[in-house]
Amino acid sequence: MTVRRVGILGGGVSGIALAAHLDSDVDVLEKSSMIGGLCRTISEDGFTYDAAGPHIMFSKNKEVLNLMIGVLGPNVHQNKRENRIFFKGALVKYPFENDLASLPKEDNFDCIYGYIVNPRAHETPENLAQWSYVTFGSGISEKYFIPYNRKIWNYDPEKIGLEFVSRIPKPPMEDVLKSSIGIPTEGYLHQLFYSYPTEGGFESIVHAFAGRIRGDIVTSWSVAHVERAGDEWRVVSTTGEERRYRTLVSTLPIHELLKVWPDAPPAAVEAAKKLRYNSLVNVVLGSSEDPGHPFTALYVPDPEIVFHRLSFPKAFSTTCVPEGGYSVMAEITTNAGDGIWESGDDELIERVTSDVAKVGFINPERIVYRRVVRFLYGYPVYDLDYRRNVTAMRDAVAATGLHLLGRFAQFDYINSDVCVERALKLADDLRDG
Ligand SMILES: Cc1cc2nc3c(=O)[nH]c(=O)nc-3n(C[C@H](O)[C@H](O)[C@H](O)COP(=O)(O)OP(=O)(O)OC[C@H]3O[C@@H](n4cnc5c(N)ncnc54)[C@H](O)[C@@H]3O)c2cc1C
Repeated sequence: MTVRRVGILGGGVSGIALAAHLDSDVDVLEKSSMIGGLCRTISEDGFTYDAAGPHIMFSKNKEVLNLMIGVLGPNVHQNKRENRIFFKGALVKYPFENDLASLPKEDNFDCIYGYIVNPRAHETPENLAQWSYVTFGSGISEKYFIPYNRKIWNYDPEKIGLEFVSRIPKPPMEDVLKSSIGIPTEGYLHQLFYSYPTEGGFESIVHAFAGRIRGDIVTSWSVAHVERAGDEWRVVSTTGEERRYRTLVSTLPIHELLKVWPDAPPAAVEAAKKLRYNSLVNVVLGSSEDPGHPFTALYVPDPEIVFHRLSFPKAFSTTCVPEGGYSVMAEITTNAGDGIWESGDDELIERVTSDVAKVGFINPERIVYRRVVRFLYGYPVYDLDYRRNVTAMRDAVAATGLHLLGRFAQFDYINSDVCVERALKLADDLRDG
């Protein structure tokens, strides 16, 4: 049997970007019939959308961003983000604290008063809910930040740690005061303009990297067994096909890798059991009527409405809808056992259609396309023990020599830009090693 130098498990953006930066002695083994993973795009009946949720290209790392834009050649354009928050029927600019004047007057007062007179401002927060009180005060926390985060994480914000707060826009006080009296300000500038493929949705980036691969991409190859065999790694598919590699990189969700790796270190297995993740149910509705608004996405903190975000694929590229058409994607964070994950497609479509109509963004009579998409692995949850567990898991796996790369392999709430950044770094290490 031929032994190849590098085997990469999983053909999402991490695995594909890594292979694109290695030589020809590489296989990418992907269980699905298509590459793309969480960056996958569905195109059906003229409607195109990023299946896991709306994806945009942005990065703090300009070199990586330029690489991702460059690999798309002419198939890319730039858009301006126009996000809103749906609050008691009003459309409030995102982030919330940058548009308090759009709230009903009483709510505006509560938010600005709580922001200025904040008895908790000098506390040291230990969880996300506390951080919100310290940073924004009670009004913004209780009306928006905490309910919204409870929905998107499907978990109590008091049980969520502070790992990702650096991602949350924190406006200067001057901007919050201006926003309350109606002087326009713009928050979260680093994503105000974003790039997106003109044709083919976000998945085009993965295909563009795939075009640079000199090794092989093998689709419909589901990894069923991984083991260390002397100096090599032996990998077997569900159909019994065996391949061997000198170096193995897994981009599979860690929980999936551990299921097929009987000799995995017990410390990794124990730690991974405690790593909490959320699943996603996305409902896409396509319409023959375009209401013609400019919005990119709408955040919905209202607990009575099932989804936490609505996005509008046409805003990303006009090629995402048929001529004169329109679509919305509703995202619901879910976990097995909460009832949503178990709901049938028809039930979900009915519930979402009714809730989208409440928000007023689609005429139910003009809906011509409906689809439910499910992802078991959507968001790693940074609960209070996350850092300890994830470190134990990663250290135990690293000691075996197997490399982990990507969002659910490393169990890190990272976007595709960081996946690419880490793929480039690993490619350098593997070339030098
Ligand atoms: C709602 C949402 C919004 C997002 N928005 C953005 C955004 O705006 N911009 C951005 O850059 N990123 C965004 N991301 C993040 C981005 O999707 C991920 O960071 C990225 O796609 C992760 O890629 P990956 O290759 O690490 O993992 P994955 O895409 O999960 O790839 C893992 C691959 O392993 C395969 N696999 C699993 N089991 C097996 C097996 N047994 N055998 C073989 N193969 C297997 C899977 O099919 C999959 O293809 C978003 C993610 C979500 C969920």
